[in-house]
Amino acid sequence: MDQYLPEKVNINGEQFRIYLTQEEIQQRLKALGDQISLDYKDKKPIFIGVLNGAFVFLSDLMRYVTIPCEVDFLKLSSYGDEKVSSGNVTDLKNIDANIKGRHVILVEDIVDTGLSMNYLFKKLKQFGPASLSAATLLHKTEATHHEVELKYVGFKIANLFVLGYGLDYAQEGRNLGQIYILEE
Ligand code: 5GP
Repeated sequence: MDQYLPEKVNINGEQFRIYLTQEEIQQRLKALGDQISLDYKDKKPIFIGVLNGAFVFLSDLMRYVTIPCEVDFLKLSSYGDEKVSSGNVTDLKNIDANIKGRHVILVEDIVDTGLSMNYLFKKLKQFGPASLSAATLLHKTEATHHEVELKYVGFKIANLFVLGYGLDYAQEGRNLGQIYILEE
């Protein structure tokens, strides 16, 4: 399958360069999928993806998982067209699945300040899952100041704005097949 993998991306006058290649991402996802398949053998986990950003990561990750599993989605308010968080989290869509007594893996594209993940952990715990863990493709470790527990991390990255592979800038760039970073 031909993918959209340009050397540089320009959106709204901002220039981005390749940061993580398609190959690096797929290799890492395979390792995460193997690990999840071992950790959740006979547990039929349910993945809860955080829209919109996590849909590409989750879609690829799930296909490296070689045990029965389910999927559902929720949606939070986004950054809008900005590159920095508003500092508020609001629900835009709730999960449909009943997760009481289930083994839940919350899936995010990126953990930045940790606000969303922290909020979602508290929210989903109220539904009484048997276990709750989190997977994120990217973690901006230096930016995280809310308490978060991340069991599966694809890549720890620098505190710079990234896009591609599900992540957008002003809604553009989600279809890029790899991760790009803002050129300083
Ligand atoms: P947090 O709540 O951890 O501060 O931010 C989480 C959300 O902010 C992510 O799900 C993502 O939507 C957005 N976000 C954080 N950093 C970036 C980034 O570098 N690029 C993009 N496109 N979105 C980001």
